[in-house]
Amino acid sequence: MGLTIGVDIGGTKILAGVVDADGVILDRLKIATPKDADGTAQVIAEAVDTLRQNHVVEAVGLGAAGFIGADRSTVLFSANVGAWVGEPLRDRMEALIGLPVVVENDANAAAWGEVRFGAAAGHTNVMCVTVGTGIGGAIVFGGELYRGGGGIAGEPGHMRVVPNGIACPCGNYGCWEQYASGSALTRYARDRAAGMPEAAEKLLALGNGTPAGIQGPHVTQAALLGDPVALAAFRELGTWLGQGLADLSAVLDPAAFVIGGGVSDAGDLLLVPALETYRSVLRRGHRLGAEVVVATLGSDAGLVGAADLARH
Ligand SMILES: [Zn+2]
Repeated sequence: MGLTIGVDIGGTKILAGVVDADGVILDRLKIATPKDADGTAQVIAEAVDTLRQNHVVEAVGLGAAGFIGADRSTVLFSANVGAWVGEPLRDRMEALIGLPVVVENDANAAAWGEVRFGAAAGHTNVMCVTVGTGIGGAIVFGGELYRGGGGIAGEPGHMRVVPNGIACPCGNYGCWEQYASGSALTRYARDRAAGMPEAAEKLLALGNGTPAGIQGPHVTQAALLGDPVALAAFRELGTWLGQGLADLSAVLDPAAFVIGGGVSDAGDLLLVPALETYRSVLRRGHRLGAEVVVATLGSDAGLVGAADLARH
């Protein structure tokens, strides 16, 4: 197969690109995501038409935020995109576009991109953990995406790590993402800055002088400047992340973890404390650890992965 188009459909923006067999993006478009299902389908079809004007394309892969049915054609539910419930996205898009279409969950598509062409290239057993506002994930098992019985495997953010812990929007209490996500990092930084404002001088300056003004990227910036409160917030986050990775290793024993999402931009600030905890937990259990690497394709992972899935 020659060229394919990958489309990463997010809650605020849609990224579409023409991708070759080596995962190289030859042409790309970015569009705001419409509020409704009809409008979303329409702008995706228009983006594909525009890209096809200059390239011969053979198939289209769509990565969509939401629960995708095991048939890989239906969006069962998407809270953020087009108010999709039971949306027959593949059939609808094939009718609009006139090319074969595959549909995949966006996190799965991004993980596939990283395993095929990015941080985990060469590995066949990989768990991707996306540390953003929440925690997402995806599993590649034996060289294939593992979708689970209902199509929604690999959601580690909702493992309960603290009985009766912090309330999670999913309805449960004490979910991992309440302790190891970007939102948790901001909370750790705000709480510490409120408790010891003199130590958090750099962090507070970035947040307009108040703990409530501190946003996630400020914590990374302040930590890079050596702010002790920001560094402590990263240590707390990394410790929770490392513990969760150790639990995931106990179940999956992946060869590699790929850490993606906005917080992974912090690199060693996150990885060093995470690895310290991860390795110390595994050492106690006499187990070998996985390689832990930061995602390399950034925001392109979803479209590159979706385009490659369209070939398979
Ligand atoms: Zn939850």
